[in-house]
Amino acid sequence: MSFEDLGLSPEILKAISECGYTEPTPIQAKAIPPILMTRDVLGLAQTGTGKTASFILPMIEVLAGGQAKARMPRSLVLAPTRELAAQVADNFDQYGKYLKLNKALLVGGESVMEQKKVLDKGVDVLIATPGRLLDLFERGSILLNDIKILVIDEADRMLDMGFIPDIEKIIAMVPPLRQTLLFSATMPKEIKGLADKLLSNPKEVSVAPPASPAETVRQSLVWTPKNRKRDTLNEIIKQEDVKNAFVFCNRKRDIDGLAEWLTKKGYSVAPLHGDMPQTKRYETLERFKAGKVTLLICSDVAARGLDVAGMSHVFNYDVPMHADDYIHRIGRTGRAGMKGTAFTLAATGGDDIKFVKSIEYLIKKPLPVEKLGAGKQAPQKQAPQKQAAQKQDTQQKKPPQKQERRVSEKKAQPETQPKKSRDVSQKSVPKNQDKVQGDDVAGFGDEVPDFFGR
Ligand code: AMP
Repeated sequence: MSFEDLGLSPEILKAISECGYTEPTPIQAKAIPPILMTRDVLGLAQTGTGKTASFILPMIEVLAGGQAKARMPRSLVLAPTRELAAQVADNFDQYGKYLKLNKALLVGGESVMEQKKVLDKGVDVLIATPGRLLDLFERGSILLNDIKILVIDEADRMLDMGFIPDIEKIIAMVPPLRQTLLFSATMPKEIKGLADKLLSNPKEVSVAPPASPAETVRQSLVWTPKNRKRDTLNEIIKQEDVKNAFVFCNRKRDIDGLAEWLTKKGYSVAPLHGDMPQTKRYETLERFKAGKVTLLICSDVAARGLDVAGMSHVFNYDVPMHADDYIHRIGRTGRAGMKGTAFTLAATGGDDIKFVKSIEYLIKKPLPVEKLGAGKQAPQKQAPQKQAAQKQDTQQKKPPQKQERRVSEKKAQPETQPKKSRDVSQKSVPKNQDKVQGDDVAGFGDEVPDFFGR
């Protein structure tokens, strides 16, 4: 299928071709036709799949015919973070460059006066974070009576960030007769409930099973004593060919300290977190995108949805506490079909074992363990990278039939499982930690069949 087949106008096709896109991504091929037919859409897609264009392209096609009145935007895109909203706005600028459409970006940390001025001129596409939108609405600077298309992007993240009550308030302000598009990377029951309330007979489109990490990302788990995490990270970075990477921390307060430490080690590093002023955040991101910074030490919120082309690595300095965040984090690399690598550092002896298990449960496979540096427990026969690649290779080559049989045997006779399988689980989880957790082991060892979406 080509973009021409989707029925987009020549102005949009020209802009798309200048972006270098030759064909629609699967989510675009599935979502654009129903959106053009003014249907509500429930889209299940991760960032990196081209989902932003899947709603922006048909939206601007539909809006191209009309004109906006002062302070009465014609469409509204709600995004959970400022960075994501800014990215949606960038997409709009690229794809709409040959159309006479205006946009406004309403995010916290920017001047309210400037934002009001833009709204006064009349905007076709309003891109906002929920808090700032409500703020301007309450000041009477904006009317939502003319909204014809409402998009809720990254709905699962909205839920995590506690924005659902704000979203519900905003819904009450937009006309009931409108087109609604809701996109989410995962579909927890709260989001399903929201979708049932908001969407009318939606077309459901999905491009990857919920919570399946990009196939192009090589994932590794490294166990390390807590007090050696920095050294372990340093060792991994040294052994890897890191072009540019996000290093995720769970707590904002750890970010600056780690950034300083890595800077002293001679790396080109910058921190990125929600406590930094907005201008500084944009500037940091621009420097990272321009290749002037190699390691961006960041929090989940700051890095959510950020799209940096060709990023080689993601390092989880902390195991994310929510398994969904793992998917989002590692999805920063391996984008648009390129290869990427994600390392997760897990501290021995604490809660990380729980978080690792819940990730393994969500992605339905064990995280391959690499033993190296501070986490090394046994001598390696060959380079960990090579070993992991070979392991993956062997797994891919295994005939599916054989794998399925092994799993059903395992299910049928859990107690008589041959020693091999126990070795495997000991390999992916340190023995003493497993005991702490009791029976709630959610992984499958290394013996996972292809039908689990490896
Ligand atoms: P998203 O999922 O919206 O974050 O998009 C991920 C990346 O895919 C962005 O860098 C887009 O510019 C890029 N992209 C979107 N659509 C296409 C396409 N049809 N072909 C190639 N790249 C695309």
